[in-house]
Parts: sequence; C-alpha cells; structure tokens
Amino acid sequence: MTDLIVRGGTVVTVAGAATADVAVEGGRIAAVGPDLGSDAREVVDAGGLLVLPGVVDVHTHTRIATDAEPDRFFGDSVAAAFGGTTSFLVFNTPSTGGSVAAGRTLLEGLREWRARTEGDAAVDYAVSLVITPQQEDAIAEMAGAIELGVPTFKAFMVYDFGVDDATLYRALAMAGGSGGMLQVHCENAVVLDALTARHLEAGETAPRYHASSRPPYVESEATARAVALARAARAPLYVVHLSCAEALAAVRAARGEGLPVFAETCPHYLTLDESRYLLPPEEAAKYVISPPLRAAGQGDALWAGLADGSLALVGTDHVPDRVAVEKQSWRQSFDRISNGGPGIETLLSLVYSEGVAAGRIGLERMVDLLATTPARLFGLRSKGSVEVGRDADLVLFDPAWRRTIRQADLHHTSDYTPYEGREVLGAVRSTLVRGAWVVRDGAFVGRRGHGQFVERELERIG
Ligand code: MN
Ligand code: MN
Repeated sequence: MTDLIVRGGTVVTVAGAATADVAVEGGRIAAVGPDLGSDAREVVDAGGLLVLPGVVDVHTHTRIATDAEPDRFFGDSVAAAFGGTTSFLVFNTPSTGGSVAAGRTLLEGLREWRARTEGDAAVDYAVSLVITPQQEDAIAEMAGAIELGVPTFKAFMVYDFGVDDATLYRALAMAGGSGGMLQVHCENAVVLDALTARHLEAGETAPRYHASSRPPYVESEATARAVALARAARAPLYVVHLSCAEALAAVRAARGEGLPVFAETCPHYLTLDESRYLLPPEEAAKYVISPPLRAAGQGDALWAGLADGSLALVGTDHVPDRVAVEKQSWRQSFDRISNGGPGIETLLSLVYSEGVAAGRIGLERMVDLLATTPARLFGLRSKGSVEVGRDADLVLFDPAWRRTIRQADLHHTSDYTPYEGREVLGAVRSTLVRGAWVVRDGAFVGRRGHGQFVERELERIG
C-alpha cells in the first residue's frame, strides 16, 4: 500500500512546474501524476504549495559532535531540514573542526569521520575529503576513498593546509583519472600574504581590511591558474565559492572551450556586499568570509551567471562560527578572524526570494541549481528530483509567506545570521527525507539518526 500521497501541490522539476500528486512508497517516489486518488496510509493536501525536491547543499563545514559540544552535527542537520535541505556535504578538514589530527592519512580521517557522525543526523549527508600537505600520501589514497563512495575532494591554494601548484596538479590528475572530482579554493597565496603584510605594517588591523587584502584579482588569477592545471591534467575542476565577475570570466572562458569546469557561488555573494565591513568591528567580523563580500553590483553578475549556466549551482559554505566564540578573534587583527558564516538554514529562502520572486531566475532553474545539478554533479544518484524511483526527499514550500529572517527563529548552531532583519518571500512548511516527515508545518518531528550517510558515485565527465 502507498504510504503517502501529497495532493494537489505544484510539483517543480527542471522540466517545468505543474499541479500534480506525489505518491510515496518505501521511502521512494512511486508515482507523480494528476490524480493519484486517496488509497494511502496518509493523504496530505498541498494546495497552494510548491512541492520541491529537497535541497542538496554541497558545501558545508558542519562541525561534528565532540564531548564538549555533543549536539553540533545533529543541531545543524535539524537546521538543514528547517531550510528545506535534505542532504548536505561536509568537508573533513584536518586542521579545523577537530575531526582528524594532522599527519594522519586520508582514509583514517574518513573512517574516523564516519564513525563520529554515524547515527547523529536528522537528514542525509555525505563527506568530501580535504587533501593537505600534512597528511601522508593523501593523493595515493584518493582512489581508495572513491571505492568507499567518497568521490569528491578539496584542495586549498591558500592557508597553512593549502597545497602548491605541483600538488594541485597531481591531485587534479588523480581525481580525474579515477572517477573523482577536485573542489578547489582559488586565491593567490603570495599576493594575499603581501597585501595582508602591508596592512598590518600600516597598523591597519580592523576587520574591514579583510576585503582589501583579497581583492577580486587575488581570486581570478588563482581561478585561471586552477583551470590551466586542470586542463593540463585532463581532469574536471570544481571551483568553490566563486564571488566575483573577474573569476566568473575565467570559468566562462574555460566552459566556452568545452572544458569540464564547474563553479558554485554562495548566497552571501548574491545578497550582501562589502559595505558590511564598514560596520563596527564586532559586527563586521560576522562577514569575514573568504573570498570576502564584494562591491555592490558583483551580485548581479553572479545572478547572470546562474541564469545563463556559467555557474552550476549555489552552495552555502556554511560555517557555524559564533560571535561569542570563534569570531572574538577580531580583537587581534583581521587576518586572525575565523573565516566563515552560517547559512545552512537560509539557502532556499534566499534563492527563492531574491532569485525567483525577484525575477532573476525561474522556478525550474532554482530547482536545478539547488537540487538536480548538485545531486548529479556530486553523485547522489537517488536525490535531486521529484521523479519516480528517486528518494522521497520533498519540500512543501509556501511561496506567498512573507517573513523576516531572525536568529531567534533559526535552529543552526551558530549564534547569529548574516541575514538578520532581511525580509524574504516564501517559507518552508514541511520537509520529508526518504518519505519520513522531518519538519512538519514548521515544527521538528524528525529523529536523530534518521539521516543516512550517502555513498556517492560520479558520472563520467568529459
Ligand atoms: Mn574556502
Ligand atoms: Mn568552505
């Protein structure tokens, strides 16, 4: 017998939006059609609501539980559900988040990460492994990780756990040659260090200098360099958190040549600008994110890139830093401030309101950017679309609900939101993961441990 029929909502796929019923059986979508009747254990009316595939957020730094903070992973997974995100990817970064000791191997890190997140999430999740110079033979272990269902990796061109160009080339080649994909944080470390030193020597230590120490050319040069290395390695390249028109031009040129280069942008680059750095330091520190927020107008270039396909998707770069804890480092100097800000719960709201409702992208494109393409590109094969056979990861979204984003109403483990006071149109009413209600009519009804680790396999690219 059918478990659930969601009746009369507007079902949205990349192909279009139409009024339809959705039948769920055994956690999967069993039928999508105009009138599926009411022969089911449960029938829910979705009249006036959008029925969307659950969002797949491929870029988070969700923290895992520790003895001191046992609810961090669970808490942010609940926040994801409230935001309509039914699967999220997490970076296992050895030097942040306390998950792996430096010097240990990639596969040991994977085993430990899996053990420490098992049974802890309310929605589904997966991991991407960061390649650092501190690990032994990380590149040699990539193929083994791919066999274990972890085909995406990340390398940084900056920071003390960043890699040099030779290592980046080898990591790209290894990923490409073994059915994986490398995600790259593109900034020029030499220029960034020089500009940072110049500010510090002049006594310029306030958070506002975060932006002027990493101008767009720091990002666009590194993006173009990563493209060149990927081209030489005959490998796909995934550029994380692209923030400006200059870097977008490098990606657009590569894609114009038919190279398998993909890039994401993030909600903060689409909706905020660098004027935030002129706020008092403790306020400004909330927006210390890398790359930094850009000049007003850059967001329009990114929306255009999302609309025309130059940008593949939107990920959050969720970092659940807290003003009261990690962000206090602003008191030292801008280059010591913990980078990042929370976003796991506000992704769909912001992209719907500022994208669809504002007329910048269509509903079908939003579903593509937030669910279908991330699921396909990152190998979550049962996710990403409201179609027969896929997991019943569904969001019931009220497009007419106008509300104001406030920290007090959010569930994430951060203590602030960069979007405080922003009015948005549209709200998640309910979220299902594999046919089970996790959020229902605005209340958490899910279960710790319902979320499963997703083993992934990429399509062959290029
Ligand atoms: Mn980054
Ligand atoms: Mn990140």
